[in-house]
Amino acid sequence: MKFIETHAHLSDKAFNDDRNEVINKSFSSGIEKIIEISCSAKDWQNALDLGENYKNKIFPVFGIYPGYIEELNAENLAKLQDNLKKDFCAGLGEIGLDYYWDNSKKKEQFKILDSMIDISNRLEKICVFHTRNGKDEKNDSAYMDLAAKLKNDWSFNNKKRNRGILHCFSGNWEDAKTGLDLGLLIGVNGTFTYKKNHELREIIKKAGIENIVLETDCPYLPPQAIRGQRNEPSQIPLIAQAISEYLSAKVEYIAGITSANANELFSNKPFSTSEVENGLSGE
Ligand SMILES: [Zn+2]
Repeated sequence: MKFIETHAHLSDKAFNDDRNEVINKSFSSGIEKIIEISCSAKDWQNALDLGENYKNKIFPVFGIYPGYIEELNAENLAKLQDNLKKDFCAGLGEIGLDYYWDNSKKKEQFKILDSMIDISNRLEKICVFHTRNGKDEKNDSAYMDLAAKLKNDWSFNNKKRNRGILHCFSGNWEDAKTGLDLGLLIGVNGTFTYKKNHELREIIKKAGIENIVLETDCPYLPPQAIRGQRNEPSQIPLIAQAISEYLSAKVEYIAGITSANANELFSNKPFSTSEVENGLSGE
């Protein structure tokens, strides 16, 4: 049984003492591929090194996180586009809108997003989105603002499916439905296992396994069983287990379908067609 981890921050300083051990432990826990998320210009070099050192195993995505407005300059944008052209680069991210902690900087967040969507269109890169509604969900919907932006300006791959991921989904059903209609998959992580997250579990059930991918967002968001500890890609099987129990489906099925979804999404690059077929047929 193989899994794909679609959202890790292995460049984080939380892994400075034992990064290679954590990575090897991931592979021995059944993780076949890891998407490394590098969303600050300060981290890009570390993610490039991971992509270089773990060819065909770790695939970085690069971007500028909502809120890092000080990183939006010509020099960084040129560097970002160079990174996105690397053969091991899987896409653009994590980018988006976050109104939860601070909804006073929407203009700045939109400025970054505009620039990232423009790059996605020109370089034909799938996107990993970070989206979080404000505390007053109705008046501060990051999901709806993102959807409006994508509907108007996102020309990359105008297909019904496989354009990107709504990572760490935390919205309501309408947010999920709007995302699915835009061709996005839903990233499910340890928050699925948190006791109070009934609404999220129901939304995932409704969205269907054919529309989800697995992720940890490590070192953040450890599943319920290890709350308070550092999260790692090796926790992916535990998240799959929780989903399998909730949906009354075999964990092998969850592993197979979510891996096929991830392979299909990222096959734009760098996964080859044969790998997609393997993901679909062999678990
Ligand atoms: Zn993240």
